[in-house]
Amino acid sequence: MSSGSMNDNPRRRALIAGAACVGSMLAARSGLAADELKPTRACDDHDATPRQMEGPFFKPRSPERTSLIESGVPGTRILVTGQVLSTRCQPVPGALLDFWQCDSKGEYDNRGNTLRGHQFTDAEGRYRLETILPGVYPGRTRHIHVKVQAPNKPILTTQLYFPKEPQNAKDFLFRPDLLIAIGDAQSAGRFDFVLKLG
Ligand code: FE
Repeated sequence: MSSGSMNDNPRRRALIAGAACVGSMLAARSGLAADELKPTRACDDHDATPRQMEGPFFKPRSPERTSLIESGVPGTRILVTGQVLSTRCQPVPGALLDFWQCDSKGEYDNRGNTLRGHQFTDAEGRYRLETILPGVYPGRTRHIHVKVQAPNKPILTTQLYFPKEPQNAKDFLFRPDLLIAIGDAQSAGRFDFVLKLG
């Protein structure tokens, strides 16, 4: 993935959004209309990624790793990539991303660190998360929790969502601008975080 510039980033987004119409991550669901899937929030919106509640299952000191996939953890593998950007579209190197999620049955590991991990963006603000599709649990649609922090800046706590999920409309926290843009491989998606760095 190229890092992109201020000018080609929106174009790449459009390509990804179009590709997402080829298929849904959920194999049972298909036939996405061209305008149904909005791309993740573009940095040229000049709006920061919205924050959401942390929830009860965050644990500090997760292991540093880009893959949360461990042997014995069942589930559909997915890859989520993207950049951390400022509201001025500048990549943020060295930003901390700390992900945590439930397993395919909707359960969090509150004793260990299964499906928890943190990482730092590279020189071009990129991150890469290999994980499994999280399950659902009562009251919540499918989601991944994340904390994002540019060096020496406040922490943004938020959650990421998946398109075409039946439970999205019933989830009081769901919002479409936190949707991961799912690519045509049905197992890869993109989300760019936009931070207001002042
Ligand atoms: Fe949760």
